[in-house]
Amino acid sequence: MHKGYTSSEAAFAEAKKLIPGGVNSPVRAFRAVGGTPVFIERGSGSKMYDIDGNSYIDYCLSWGPLILGHAHPEVVHAINDYALRGTSFGAPTLLETEMAKLVTELVPSVEVVRMVNSGTEATMSALRLARGYTKRSKIVKFEGCYHGHADSLLIKAGSGVATLGLPDSPGVPESVATNTLTVPYNDVESLKLAFEKFGDDIAAVILEPIAGNMGLVKPREGYLQAVREITRQYGALLIFDEVMTGFRAALGGAQAIYNIDPDLTTLGKVIGGGLPVGAYGGKREIMEMIAPAGPIYQAGTLSGNPLAMIAGYTTLKMLSEPGAYDRLEAMGKRLVEGFLAAGKEFGLPVTGSYVGGMMGMFFAEQEVVDYDTAKLANLERYAKYFSLMLERGVYLAPSQLEAGFLSLAHTDADIDRTLEAARDSMKLL
Ligand code: PMP
Repeated sequence: MHKGYTSSEAAFAEAKKLIPGGVNSPVRAFRAVGGTPVFIERGSGSKMYDIDGNSYIDYCLSWGPLILGHAHPEVVHAINDYALRGTSFGAPTLLETEMAKLVTELVPSVEVVRMVNSGTEATMSALRLARGYTKRSKIVKFEGCYHGHADSLLIKAGSGVATLGLPDSPGVPESVATNTLTVPYNDVESLKLAFEKFGDDIAAVILEPIAGNMGLVKPREGYLQAVREITRQYGALLIFDEVMTGFRAALGGAQAIYNIDPDLTTLGKVIGGGLPVGAYGGKREIMEMIAPAGPIYQAGTLSGNPLAMIAGYTTLKMLSEPGAYDRLEAMGKRLVEGFLAAGKEFGLPVTGSYVGGMMGMFFAEQEVVDYDTAKLANLERYAKYFSLMLERGVYLAPSQLEAGFLSLAHTDADIDRTLEAARDSMKLL
């Protein structure tokens, strides 16, 4: 029996007095789905427990990092153990080289890697590097792809294809926006047009090789190859933002699945095992432009933090064991196929997909291939579905335009219970 949200409601009211909107990151406020965000007391394995005493099977997993589940004993032990030696030194440790060795072994295109503290920092730094290396100023991003909140990445499309971007938030100067071109995802022709118009001044194309910030949207067959060819042709760098897909879609990220060789890769989420970490890496020749090896500046007081490194390292080592991604994908397949079947049973159009430990579902009539088609999904219906699932002990992403995540702590019984809840909920929609 669900115990209601009384304590979370009171906690949210109090938080709103002291924190903008009551939260430290906007999507946590449940704006897209309505209702009060549940305040979390603790997590364990596939479950999260709120302050009203409700438990949830968690498919958000801190927005992706917790691929081993909450409070995995080996990760917690590694953090505890290391913390006794100190929490930060601001001087090099052996652990950082070990971590770099592991990351360069696992991610095919990464030869040299720099640690930072968030995905935002990773993409922001990769862009500076791309601009510094190519001595060009424009970048291309795709509608519906999210790369963190650096000024030049908070840009929406101007009117018409291949026009200069517009600020997506007050506070982002127009002078910055004009250096960001925004084109539709999965559309080779638009990208070609952008390069025909501005090719000589484009430093880099940045994209989520599998998009996870407009719901889960996979690249069309041949799309990533085309993006690679066009960027190469014009001498622009290709940056794969694998903050979400890195060590999650597959151990080597989306680039391993699609066999693409990007110039730079940004990482985050799983690489920190639940602690704050980001990273960017790629070709040696480019990466060695970064200070102090080269002239392009980037730094961080807590970068390469030992607790974050040990949590990430332990996580990546466990993921390297055979069968991990087969297990994740088998659960994703069962869930998505179950959602589709439930939709069919109750006459609701549902589409969905999965890859590795990621999954996505839309209440949509047509296939979702880009941001425009993602926005056609029925957001109101998802909001109701989200609330019904929450009452039944299933914590989904509090927005339809987000991917869902699985962990190795999820069990077949969790999947059974989730599918039962999905049927019960869809019956009521
Ligand atoms: N890139 C991608 C693809 C992301 O999904 C995110 C976060 N959802 C970011 C960058 C930004 O990462 P962070 O929130 O750690 O700054």
